Order: sequence, then structure tokens, then C-alpha cells
Amino acid sequence: MTSEMKAGRPSMYIGGEWIDSASGETFDRISPVTGEVLASLPRANREDAQAAIDAANRARSHMASMPVFERAALCHAIADVLESKHKSMGEELSLEQGKPYREACDEILFAAELYRDAAENIKRLETSIVPSVDPNKRILTIRQPHGVVAIITPWNFPMGIPSEYLSAALATGNTVVWKPAPTSSIIAIRLVECFLEAGVPEGSVNLLFGEAEVGDEMVANPDTHAVGLTGSSAVGNAVAKRAGAKPLLLELGGNGPTIILDDADLERAIEGTAFGCYHNAGQICQSSERILTHSKVHDAVLEGLVEKTRSIRLGHPLDETTTMGPLNNEGVAKKMDEHLADALQKGATVVTGGRRAEGFPTALYYEPTVVDGVPPESLFNHEETFGPVAPVISTEDLDEAIAVANSCGLGLCCSVYTSNVSKAFYCAEQLECGVVNVNESAAYWDGRIPFGGYSGKGSGVGRLGGKETILSMTQLKSMVMDVRM
Ligand code: NAD
Repeated sequence: MTSEMKAGRPSMYIGGEWIDSASGETFDRISPVTGEVLASLPRANREDAQAAIDAANRARSHMASMPVFERAALCHAIADVLESKHKSMGEELSLEQGKPYREACDEILFAAELYRDAAENIKRLETSIVPSVDPNKRILTIRQPHGVVAIITPWNFPMGIPSEYLSAALATGNTVVWKPAPTSSIIAIRLVECFLEAGVPEGSVNLLFGEAEVGDEMVANPDTHAVGLTGSSAVGNAVAKRAGAKPLLLELGGNGPTIILDDADLERAIEGTAFGCYHNAGQICQSSERILTHSKVHDAVLEGLVEKTRSIRLGHPLDETTTMGPLNNEGVAKKMDEHLADALQKGATVVTGGRRAEGFPTALYYEPTVVDGVPPESLFNHEETFGPVAPVISTEDLDEAIAVANSCGLGLCCSVYTSNVSKAFYCAEQLECGVVNVNESAAYWDGRIPFGGYSGKGSGVGRLGGKETILSMTQLKSMVMDVRM
């Protein structure tokens, strides 16, 4: 541990100091890879959250008045540090999160790119001059930071997702109170260390560890001014109720369908679908959660998926030959167990995998799994599984596939494989998802894509991605000026 230690353990970062929790309570961060305790960390409560919020408020005017080009330079400096440390940080990320080392390094480099992007976007953020009915008036708009932004993040991309919010929040002159998921706390310390090395001003970023109570305080406290949460739909709903009228950016769960039509390039479809099912062990909000094949290509798709699934190397994330690591926590593994049992009870069959793998140090190594004959009434079709599974549902035509796809109460990302442009557009317009990928995996991601849930579905509110995140982290102010001499 390179961060300053309090009481012999790594600390939270509040008001420019590494500190222990007010209560002295701790929790152990146990590696999903080895089962060993990686660190004992302070567990924050509402008092700690208040201290972090106060520190962020004290730093507000300094951050807001910092010239835009200086903030942009700061974001580039953060990117420089991340790039220089990505290999050592990648190792820690793997051991704490469970993903293969190469993917962990890529995630850190991807995060660096987000700070560069925010730096460039903020330099080019222009506002409008609005025509007035009165010849003596000039109407113009300016964008200002919200103030203190409460940022609450999950564990599946513990560098990438926080960096989406943090890069834009800092670039736009906000200050931040950030709570990562408990199971990705150590890598959060590393990110804050990078901020300090880059010269982020004291109090502008405050890091808290803890669970729902701390997140709730950050959301409901009158001294935070906007909320950004990436997490499950259940937590998103709770947060929306507690945030009241604060600006809210919610990126929640998905249950992405992948539709494979009978005119699709099957090789490409199988490749993209397997990536969507197993990348990050299926722990992606954009995963291919349900595979809706046309009945004419069902057998070929199933055969291809099984072959790809059997080629996956489950193992220790630091082993170079590993292509899939353990799941991050018992909650996800349990959900896999439950969704599988439900589908089997409703008539589906396991074609390959279907259980926790044996011979590993923890029970979180799950065999990559293909399930066939999944009925639309199964949990796989209605709830997010978030594990390494390809549930296959056979459909007779395009409209049936769209109906099954839309029958789920979530609507984040999906993908469609077809060689027919008209069908591609028809699907894109009919599918109730915020992002539709055509002839590309549901899990394809570029930080500049406007990204978020479809209105009225439970996948969130607002958009992340490039300029959208910059807009979400600012408020619009109008100025009316009378120019009579
Ligand atoms: P989670 O909802 O359990 O937790 C998310 C964060 O919220 C954590 O930091 C948690 O401690 C905190 N939290 C829990 N209860 C809270 C409360 N009452 N008030 C405030 N904060 C609270 O999610 P998770 O298990 O960490 O992550 C997996 C989920 O995140 C999946 O559903 C996944 O789809 C979703 N996700 C969505 C996106 C997206 O962009 N839409 C991206 C990644 C993950």
C-alpha cells in the first residue's frame, strides 16, 4: 500500500487528508481470485459522509473559478499518470475485481482516454446567443458546474465507470464525493493517488468507503447538488426517491437481447455474441443476456456458441493463458445459480457448463455456460443475470423476436445481426433500448457513444458519453441583458 496509513490500514481521502473512519469500524476486502484478505479498510458512516461533503463544499469556489484550460491540463495530467502506472495498477485491479490482467490494463488505459476526452470536450464547449423579441435585449447562456457531485459506482469496471463521471466532473469545475462499491475499494485508492500525483486541488475529490447508508447520505444530504450513480435498477430507484429534485444521472441494469436473423453473417454473429456473453465474465450492463435466434439458424448458432464457450480458459487472472476470471462476489454467483435453476425447472437444458467450477481457491469461478430452449417466461428473459451465460431462445420471425426482446422491463443495450439494411433500421426503431448495435456485439463500447436507458424502462435516466457527460455535469444559466445606451 502506498497511500498514507491510518491505524495501520489504507485510508479514505477527505479534505486533502488520508483518514480513518469516525467510528473506527472496518471491513475486509477479500480477493475473489485467491480468497485472501487484500486489506482491511475503514467503513464510513453518515458522519464521515458529512465530513467529505463539507470538504467538497469548501473546495467549490476554487474549482469553479479555475480557468477551463487549467482544468483541461489537469485532466491530461491525470491521464499521463494513469498511462504510466497502468501495468502495476492492472495487477491490483485483477486481484481485487477478478478480470484477466490484460483486460484490467486495457480498462486503465481506457480510463486515461476518458480524462483526455473530457479535457478536449471542455475546451470546445460553446453556448448559444438566443434571438430576442425585444431589440434592446441580448439573451445568452452560460454553463456552470453543479457544485458538489455525489458519485456512486459499481465494481464491474472499477476504473472505467468512475472515470466517466470523475473526468467530466473535474473538467467542468465541480467538486466530488465518491463512493465506489465496497468490492472495488483498493483500486479506488490507487485512482485517488493518481489524482494527487497529477495535482488535483485539495478537497476537490473525496473518497469514502461503505455501503447503502453512506450512499444514501451522499444522495439525500442538502449540501450535495447533483447525483451520478451507476448500479442496479433497485438501487437506482431508491436513489431517485432520495435525491428529490437534484439533477440525476442514473446508469442502471440491462438485460440486453441479441437478435440473430436468418440472413445474418453467422460467423460474425457468433463471435460478437460470445464476446457479449463472456467478456468480464458476463458482468457488464451491456452483456448479451438473451440470445434470440431465428429458428432457421438456431442449430448453427448454438453449435458455434458452444464451440466458443468451450474454448474459454477459466483461471487465475494473472495467468497469461486465462481468458476469464472468477466472478466478483457471491451475490452475482448466487444469481447465476438461481437463474439457471429457474430456466431448467421451466424446461431449458444446459448444453455446456452450468455450475461453479471445481479446483479453484474460491467458489466464484463459474463455468461459462450455454442454455438452450429457454422459455420467454424464464428469469433469464426478464431479469439481468450478470454472469457468464448464453441463454438461447428460438423465435419464428422478426416480430416475435422484437416482442420477446421488448417484454423485459429493462432497456439499455441490444444487438441485431442481419444483412438486410431495412430490417436493421426496423429493429433499431422498434427495440426499446437506449443503444442498438447492428452487426456488432451488444457489449461494444466506446466512451463517446451517448449511453443510457430507454425512457420508461428501468435502465436509467440521462446519458453518459463524451459531450453528454460534460452537459450532465453542468447546469445552464441564461443571462438577459438590456443594451439601451
Ligand atoms: P449496486 O446497485 O448493488 O451498487 C451500486 C453502488 O450503489 C455501490 O457503490 C453500492 O454500495 C451503492 N448503493 C447501494 N445501495 C445504495 C443506496 N440505498 N443508496 C445509495 N447508494 C447505494 O450495483 P453493483 O452490484 O455494484 O453493480 C452491478 C449493477 O450495476 C448491475 O445491475 C449493472 O447492470 C449495473 N451497471 C450499469 C451500468 C450502466 O452504464 N448502465 C454500467 C455498469 C454496471
